[in-house]
Amino acid sequence: MARRANEETEDPMKAPRSFPPTQRRKHPSQCSQCAGSVRSRRVTLVYPGPDSTTRVVHGVPAGVCTSCGEKYITPEVAERIERLLSAPPARSEKVPVWDFAANF
Ligand SMILES: [Zn+2]
Repeated sequence: MARRANEETEDPMKAPRSFPPTQRRKHPSQCSQCAGSVRSRRVTLVYPGPDSTTRVVHGVPAGVCTSCGEKYITPEVAERIERLLSAPPARSEKVPVWDFAANF
């Protein structure tokens, strides 16, 4: 998957604490999970789609905790994501998948 500059992609070693991201009127300056500081970032969010598909939304404005990675999005952004996901995607990319359970 192509990475964009200044964009954070989920760290697979660090599972997000809550999914979908926490919705707040305004991004908090302090993380409600760990009291770390929250910075404005553009993030990539991944949503399950129908028929085993995965839907990826790049460039979402979010507040991201610099300590634990908790993400905060506003209800307006959540609504825009919903609208985006109901429309055809900008493009499709192939995603490789590994099955841990089948190998250990
Ligand atoms: Zn945090």
